[in-house]
Amino acid sequence: MDLGARMRVAVVGGGWAGLAAAVELLAAGVEVVVHEAARRLGGRARSVVMHGQRLDNGQHILSGAYGETLRLMQQVGADPARLLHRVPLALCFPGAASERPFALRLPRLPAPWHLAVGLFSARGASLGEKLAALRCLRRWQGTGYRLAADCSLAALLDRDRQFGALRRFLWEPLCLAALNTPAADASAQVFLNVLRDTVGGARAASDLLLPAVELDALFAQPAA
Ligand SMILES: Cc1cc2nc3c(=O)[nH]c(=O)nc-3n(C[C@H](O)[C@H](O)[C@H](O)COP(=O)(O)OP(=O)(O)OC[C@H]3O[C@@H](n4cnc5c(N)ncnc54)[C@H](O)[C@@H]3O)c2cc1C
Repeated sequence: MDLGARMRVAVVGGGWAGLAAAVELLAAGVEVVVHEAARRLGGRARSVVMHGQRLDNGQHILSGAYGETLRLMQQVGADPARLLHRVPLALCFPGAASERPFALRLPRLPAPWHLAVGLFSARGASLGEKLAALRCLRRWQGTGYRLAADCSLAALLDRDRQFGALRRFLWEPLCLAALNTPAADASAQVFLNVLRDTVGGARAASDLLLPAVELDALFAQPAA
């Protein structure tokens, strides 16, 4: 269908979502105008000038599961392999003096071995906790990461008997990082969607992608 012959579209907002829409519309031959209220494109993921220095407005970490983001970057000529550092998922908590430090790193092994070996070799969690976490992951995987009825992540972890170090240092921090919401308030279903797409997917999907350039150069500038 030739959309371009019939349409002229205004996109309101030049953050990553608005720019993604504009890029896709342009690719479909549609004439697009992006209206952005700020002086710069990029929205919440952009560089800012402070005291004459260009800085990112916050730390931004992408994950290997951001398939559409990586595809869009490529579409506008921003090479993810050059602009992002790819590192295996690692969670480290030095802990207070009275606590055992916690460290989990997923090795570069094919899925699901990366997860099994990573969990088993985690420091600061008991064997019982690791086995319980693996059983739980298998149960979630067995249902296609679908819950019959949604509840809070905290309620799901209680029901699935996820307590101790792995709850405190794995499930709860992952929830806070990915959903920006503590486990007591977060949707368990949304959290399971994140697990399905990251640690439940191919090994590369759980990698962390760290910007090697300023945020503007990742997408907003090339999209513009
Ligand atoms: C400090 C910080 C750290 C973050 N870290 C991460 C991270 O590590 N990993 C991750 O995946 N995400 C992270 N995020 C979230 C991520 O930045 C956002 O989810 C994403 O940038 C949202 O993009 P968006 O286009 O949906 O919205 P926005 O970026 O909010 O863009 C909306 C745009 O619309 C414009 N606008 C609004 N109203 C109008 C109007 N009426 N007319 C014209 N323009 C308008 C705004 O000025 C803005 O530029 C972080 C966010 C922040 C703030």
